[in-house]
Amino acid sequence: MVDLYSQYMHIKDEVDGAIQRVIDSTAFIKGDEVAKFQEELASYMNVKHVIACGNGTDALQVAMMALELNPGDEVVTTPFTFISTIEVIRLLGLKPVLVDVREDTFNLDPSLLERVLTERTKAIAPVHLFGQCAQMEEIMGLANKHNLFVIEDNAQAIGATYSFSNGEKKRAGTMGNIGTTSFFPSKNLGCFGDGGALFTNDDELGERLRALVNHGMKQRYYYDFVGVNSRLDTIQAAILRVKLMQLDSYHRARQRAADFYDSALSAIKGLKVPARSNFSTHVFHQYTIQVPADSRDSLKSFLQEKGIPAMVYYPVPLHLQHAYGDLGYKLGDLPVSEGLCGRVLSLPMHTELEDDQLKYITDQVRTFFKS
Ligand SMILES: *Cc1c(COP(=O)(O)O)cnc(C)c1O
Repeated sequence: MVDLYSQYMHIKDEVDGAIQRVIDSTAFIKGDEVAKFQEELASYMNVKHVIACGNGTDALQVAMMALELNPGDEVVTTPFTFISTIEVIRLLGLKPVLVDVREDTFNLDPSLLERVLTERTKAIAPVHLFGQCAQMEEIMGLANKHNLFVIEDNAQAIGATYSFSNGEKKRAGTMGNIGTTSFFPSKNLGCFGDGGALFTNDDELGERLRALVNHGMKQRYYYDFVGVNSRLDTIQAAILRVKLMQLDSYHRARQRAADFYDSALSAIKGLKVPARSNFSTHVFHQYTIQVPADSRDSLKSFLQEKGIPAMVYYPVPLHLQHAYGDLGYKLGDLPVSEGLCGRVLSLPMHTELEDDQLKYITDQVRTFFKS
């Protein structure tokens, strides 16, 4: 699915040098590289504050903590994503309220949002799934109208650009009150372990987030908030500085692979290639096709037999997960997400895909649909 080794070989000298410099400095925690990485990422994202932290799940948790919500307050999010979003909402004693997604983009359907809002609704947490922004203009409009916070889970779309109807462009993760991301190795900007970050343009929130990831401490050994310990290691920051310089070229490589897939697969009857929306660039964290539910698993095993990894992101929507049964949802409540879970299949997508590999993969998919 991903080829991190070949990617590393292209930047080995820079990465090895960066790691060695951290070792020589022995500033393993809060070293200079962390501050530099935060500055460089802030400039890339065109955002005022970047606060590095331990991982993408921590980033979401700290973002929710910063909003000072009360137990039982409701946060609206999507059921078609990784578990982190509803996990942290629940851990903080808040209530996740799930709204279905659009079948074409896999992202929150803004037309369904207003009907779930109650007087306890405090925030909306859209996820920019698979590399493409949710409909932020509509979501921000609704949030402003109802005075709600917006937290963007940008673990999968770092570097994507959203275009507002007035022509304004913003990076994914910088449109709401707080954005979060993950540097898990397989993410578009991945380190060599765990890592994450928070984004905000709000000075007060920035200061609070910085304190929260550091035990709620502003001045040494004086605690203003109940916080957590969530840090990005200096070694990871040093690696990320090297990889940030490659991020745009990594995206071009992913988009090139996606174009190849599109042109080779879009004519297949019964197969739907991922939609590309006109309001967001697509950085293709995943290339996710839809096929009839009764052939999805057989296509997956057919490809596996041919040596092609393919993955189902995600097999079960969050509202039907055992651990979250007490939220009271049942099968049929969020039909688009439920349907997608049966039809989606993500093909190999990374920065090192060669034409002959792409040709082999798409030839095999075509063979499957011919037989
Ligand atoms: C990867 C991911 C996370 C979690 O990031 P970690 O660094 O693994 O904690 C959260 N949300 C989404 C959408 C993700 O893809």
